[in-house]
Amino acid sequence: MLFRSKKRYTVHTMGDPVLRTVAEPVREVTPEIRELAETMIGAMRAFDGIGLAAPQVGRSLRLVVFDIPADSIGESPSPGELALLPKMPLAVVNPEILTVSENCCVRDEGCLSVPDIYAPVVRPSRVVFRAGTLDGGVIEYECGGLLGRCIQHELDHLDGHLFIDRVSEEALREISRDLKKLQRFGEKHHYHRVAVK
Ligand code: ZN
Repeated sequence: MLFRSKKRYTVHTMGDPVLRTVAEPVREVTPEIRELAETMIGAMRAFDGIGLAAPQVGRSLRLVVFDIPADSIGESPSPGELALLPKMPLAVVNPEILTVSENCCVRDEGCLSVPDIYAPVVRPSRVVFRAGTLDGGVIEYECGGLLGRCIQHELDHLDGHLFIDRVSEEALREISRDLKKLQRFGEKHHYHRVAVK
């Protein structure tokens, strides 16, 4: 009889200092970095996420993975969505946002490190995104839609920011009780949540 071995994935939750630390650049894509990217893709999927940054698995490195669903593409997709959505899941190193659009939009965000809490966040509608790929290439695209949103959210993680830093005072008041609950959960579970998949 064959058994598929299950893996245990951990994501660090709000309150863990690693989520408030500015992450270090990835100097070289070593086998260890590839393995970390694989683990992060596993964790992102185990927790049903669409993006994950290395600090969320406890590693203060500028490495991010995405798994944006192809059906998130809208009526006038950005060049980045057309190019990158077929390549999901995608791991990138040292990602940067070069420019942001003046146009902004509002959308509810959530975060695997802030589980079960959602709030509206205003962000630029499109960004010009540049990043290194694991095979040594560089990608640069204008990205909008869910991808553009997720890029901004994940890159915030690399600078020690969480989406709850960007919500209005009113929205913050609405989620304040849940945030306190999450803080207590963190204190009890060492700011870790675990999934076995
Ligand atoms: Zn997040």
